[in-house]
Amino acid sequence: MYFMDNDMIILDCPVCGEEMDFEILKEPPEAVVKCSVCGHVMRITLKEPKSKTVHAIVSFGDESSTGTIDLIEGEIISVGDYLVAEVGDDSFSVEVTSIEENNARREKLPTEKIQVLWTRLVDKVIIRASLNKGATTIPLYEEVEGDKVYTVGQITSVGGRQFRVTRIKLRKGNIITRKDKTAEAREIKRVYGERS
Ligand SMILES: [Zn+2]
Repeated sequence: MYFMDNDMIILDCPVCGEEMDFEILKEPPEAVVKCSVCGHVMRITLKEPKSKTVHAIVSFGDESSTGTIDLIEGEIISVGDYLVAEVGDDSFSVEVTSIEENNARREKLPTEKIQVLWTRLVDKVIIRASLNKGATTIPLYEEVEGDKVYTVGQITSVGGRQFRVTRIKLRKGNIITRKDKTAEAREIKRVYGERS
């Protein structure tokens, strides 16, 4: 397994001897990557995880809307999981309340078998962060309120670790780097930080 975030990937560096952020010089499957710490360049064959979009029913109070949720193939989804649903142009934090396969309701199912996810709107989302500390990158996550604000240049904490936010990658794909720019947890794909 590997983690890929469009422009960066976390892999074992044979020179550094541990997991590092690698810059992608040539896209997978026949990728060329460069260690962001020691500069080691290597060729590696990577299969990008396939994503699958499933239908979602998002309910809030007595009303409901239909939307979609992007999942990774092979991922197991369970009732109670927090995901992000797209309804029109908006993203919402949702909790899975039921999983439908062939008109049956299931508690847990791999992505490829899911036909519809029944969900309810929640305020909580999972915030993910990558913390650079000297030569290592530490992945962090924490469940937070969807409207929690993160600001570039300011000290925050994720998963009990304090750090300064250096940039924020949004779900829409763009990265914000300008000092004092803010984003809410529900819009964020990943927060990058440095130990100050
Ligand atoms: Zn290295």
